[in-house]
Amino acid sequence: MRKFHHALVLVTSLAALIACSGDRETPPPPEPDPVEEVDIWKEYDAGNIRFENRAATTPGGRITDAIVRDDPDFFAGIARKVLAVLYESPADSITRVRNLNIRLEDFDGVAYATGDSEGNVIVLSCRWIGSTFLDTQDTSRVADEITGVLLHEMTHVYQLEPRAPGGYGGNTEIWACIEGTADAVRYLAGYFKENDVGAGGSYLDGYRTTGFFLGWVQKNKDAKFLHAFNQAALHVYPWNFAAAFKHALGEAADVDALWVEYQTYRKTVK
Ligand SMILES: [Zn+2]
Repeated sequence: MRKFHHALVLVTSLAALIACSGDRETPPPPEPDPVEEVDIWKEYDAGNIRFENRAATTPGGRITDAIVRDDPDFFAGIARKVLAVLYESPADSITRVRNLNIRLEDFDGVAYATGDSEGNVIVLSCRWIGSTFLDTQDTSRVADEITGVLLHEMTHVYQLEPRAPGGYGGNTEIWACIEGTADAVRYLAGYFKENDVGAGGSYLDGYRTTGFFLGWVQKNKDAKFLHAFNQAALHVYPWNFAAAFKHALGEAADVDALWVEYQTYRKTVK
């Protein structure tokens, strides 16, 4: 949406330029076609993404195989969505990914991101996919649910990692940033409903509570916010929300004041 907006602005200013030049021989520029928008991430090497179904005989395994059979680009397409929300362009400083193995296994839970000797691994639960199908009876809605969950997990693969003493395990700010950014990507990609989180809590609560706040800042304060917030991992040490918000929005930015403003909005969402 944002890229299309930029394209429109470009075409509009081009038209103004031509109009001002007084050159009446120049034909008007063609109307932009939003459907033909170029995906700048299409040629980017997002890594070798493979899918391994270790639960092929289960209902969830069969549904996932059918989804991938219909759309062989299914997982790579989700990776490009993540990259487009996290980064301005392929020229940015981007976490390089060599291998990403997506595995379907039989366990209680939904999904998690981890790693092995080959690189990044995301494990999805066939039980969760099977029960999602039972709830919806609709394969395309199952595909949307998998996409939503993978937008979060794949963010962990491609996001820049903020650093501070204690790191992910011992530092609430780092943990809240990593888990909040992952849900912000899912939210900004359109795979949450606006009322999928309530009012209250703190931006240090992680997941949706942090993620919807980051998304609100992007929608209301700066359309490039999440790009800069993610890049703050390379520029802010020790990383913390207050400093990362100043890096992204300027020295006057105050994360606590923005949180209060966001809560006023959040209380109006039904
Ligand atoms: Zn996570």
